[in-house]
Amino acid sequence: MTQAARDTKALESSLYMQAARRVPITLVRGEGTRVWDDTGKSYLDFVAGIATNSLGHAHPGLADVIAKQAHTLIHVSNIYFSEPQIELAELLIGHSSLDRVFFSNSGAEANEAAIKLARKWGRQNRNGAYEIIATNNGFHGRTMATISASGTPRYREPFEPTVPGFVFVDYDDLAAVKAATNERTAAVFVEPLQGEGGVNVPDAGYLRGLRAWCDEQGMLLMLDEVQTGCGRTGTLWAYEQAGIEPDIMTLAKGIGGGVPLGATLAKEHAAVFEPGDHGSTFGGNPLATAAGAYVLHQLIDTDLVANVRARGEQLSRRLKGLEDRSPLVGGERGAGLLRGLELTQDVAGEVVVRALEAGLLLNPVRPNIVRFMPPLNVTAAEIDEAVDIVERVLQDVGG
Ligand SMILES: *Cc1c(COP(=O)(O)O)cnc(C)c1O
Repeated sequence: MTQAARDTKALESSLYMQAARRVPITLVRGEGTRVWDDTGKSYLDFVAGIATNSLGHAHPGLADVIAKQAHTLIHVSNIYFSEPQIELAELLIGHSSLDRVFFSNSGAEANEAAIKLARKWGRQNRNGAYEIIATNNGFHGRTMATISASGTPRYREPFEPTVPGFVFVDYDDLAAVKAATNERTAAVFVEPLQGEGGVNVPDAGYLRGLRAWCDEQGMLLMLDEVQTGCGRTGTLWAYEQAGIEPDIMTLAKGIGGGVPLGATLAKEHAAVFEPGDHGSTFGGNPLATAAGAYVLHQLIDTDLVANVRARGEQLSRRLKGLEDRSPLVGGERGAGLLRGLELTQDVAGEVVVRALEAGLLLNPVRPNIVRFMPPLNVTAAEIDEAVDIVERVLQDVGG
């Protein structure tokens, strides 16, 4: 380890609130799917900033757009109009089933806006209904309202009392949603596929069933596409694969290619904010939305989403193939380039540490699930290289 590497580790432990356990490497540079640490060691990056670096690292086109915007206008208050923001809004509304957008800086903030919309919508349209049905193992962020909506008790309990009005049911259980519905219910709030919860793919009819139930009851269906949106699952939005349209959809992670950006989209009838209801100083500023517009153009105008489907199928096939080669592999699941490798023992942490040593970044999203989320422009050769590393690493795990 170099002097610089040792110093970063020591400084981190003395300077930072220890809010999360970090992987003890310092990344200094990236190019495409590859990153380098401060010792010069390179890694294939199948974490991509947690499904955020959608175009990979140091993408020349994205870097140029950001640099040009920085030389032109980085930030203006949302009390004025700005051109990159309008351009991104047109792309989002023109290429989704939603009608209006509110820009913020992160997934949690996008979801805060969604929760506020549901509360106000219920007040105006469903006799003051305010409850939101959310799911066990669902994840919506770390602010007070979004931990209150997240289905992992450990994230909520240290900070109780949480925001009232959230009811939890099991994911992929339509009957449980029906049973939890009452006159106070304003909305159902789910991820099309649970990412942080362990790459949990619901039954094909789940979202359709939720849509029909919300229509029948006169409630909002809100989809958190912070992780699944912007091409990640092989279509521009994951909801397309279910053949439904949500009333509200939230985005962040991949939308800015790594620049902080969040968006809350709503159908006209659910877009109930009026002047003074909500705001954000940085939300959708020119720098972030110029990056977002560039990423959206790549998704819409190039074969990037087709690449997600092709490389996603390749990754799925290769991970499934490991079942025959290692008793530790129990299967694989996911969609597009958001994939989970299921292990037969709780060794995801060890697999990830050994992969890191072998030059591959992966994420142990659950004790028995390793998550793969490479850049959307990952190549076939990089998929093969990554799975080859996983195959070698599995031979050493537990040994
Ligand atoms: C990551 C994530 C969030 C939180 O996003 P932040 O930008 O970290 O606030 C919310 N919902 C889902 C589904 C996510 O994956």
